[in-house]
Amino acid sequence: MKKMKALVKARPERGLWLEEVPIPEPGINEVLVKIKKTAICGTDLHIYLWDDWAQRTIKTPMIIGHEYMGIVVKMGSGVRNMEIGDRVTGEGHIACGHCRNCRRGKKHVCQNTIGIGVNRDGAFAEYVVIPAENIIHLDKRISDETAAIMDPFGNATHTALSFPIIGEDVLITGAGLIGSMAVAICRFAGARYIVVSDLSDSRLEIAKKMGADLTINPSKGEKARDAIDKLGMYGFDIGLEMSGSPAAFNDMIDNMYNGSKIALLGILPNTTTVPWDKIIFKALSLKGIYGREMFETWYKMEQMLISGLDLSPVITHRFHFEDFQKGFDVMEERNSGKVILNWE
Ligand code: NAD
Ligand code: ZN
Repeated sequence: MKKMKALVKARPERGLWLEEVPIPEPGINEVLVKIKKTAICGTDLHIYLWDDWAQRTIKTPMIIGHEYMGIVVKMGSGVRNMEIGDRVTGEGHIACGHCRNCRRGKKHVCQNTIGIGVNRDGAFAEYVVIPAENIIHLDKRISDETAAIMDPFGNATHTALSFPIIGEDVLITGAGLIGSMAVAICRFAGARYIVVSDLSDSRLEIAKKMGADLTINPSKGEKARDAIDKLGMYGFDIGLEMSGSPAAFNDMIDNMYNGSKIALLGILPNTTTVPWDKIIFKALSLKGIYGREMFETWYKMEQMLISGLDLSPVITHRFHFEDFQKGFDVMEERNSGKVILNWE
């Protein structure tokens, strides 16, 4: 049996191990992809650190990773609309295809979703097998590095385009990877003012590069209210919560305009308390976001990228996969933008 190198969560403890494992075989309606580039996601860091969520979710041993791009090198029987050599990435959630949501065309809220690199072997390897249905063909105008981060770009796109945005004033709490990409999307989609908050000035710098009009750092006592006064608004029309911070979410609710809308991507702790009376009396709409819409979000991403939306400012580090430890170290220090691992 032919072997490949892979980053394996081999044991239920902190760490990740580079191992030689068998190259997987594509089954019926599956595709074997030779990996060129991957990116490290916050989820991968959770698995690496072996925190509570990882301990509850991950069954070892398993190859992790779900942000990737590569080349189709083998196809199982039944695969159509694909050729050996196609340049591809893939949707990381495998929907069951037969639950009520799948059958009504809402695969992103499938009740039996399986996550690549979370519930089955992932893409931090020389090869990965994924269902043909999950394959996304890449336009040649999209670079390999950009293609490798389309999964989180999809989270940002799904969130930012949840509500009509043209002419609206937007507050984004959290200028992490996804928040920064959301800035560029809101700019692209015609928002009026985009205000971004984060506790880290270096992250706010990236948000500015991506098109933010004004940034606020709550750790320096700055508040969303200051931005409203400075820009001459009544309040924000659209809120994108991308920090997972209860304090940020509360500041957002305080500063939303009556009748406005909030999309929630950041994973808020279950202990978060909010002023329900404000949500009710301001007539706010709240929408939870999970993953990407299959496959409308991917279509929108492709069109934005080939029309000039530039994600390159969010990529700050590049390593060969054998130096993966350096990549996880900079992620753990929380001083990085996106970290790319090269597999060529
Ligand atoms: P990230 O950790 O890179 O970004 C979070 C940012 O929030 C950080 O820059 C942090 O400094 C900032 N922050 C923390 N407290 C803040 C506060 N009080 N005010 C303002 N900013 C604050 O994470 P990411 O990869 O960009 O993801 C964003 C969030 O979305 C995370 O909570 C992540 O778990 C979640 N997520 C959800 C989904 C989904 O499908 N719902 C998918 C991916 C990620
Ligand atoms: Zn389903």
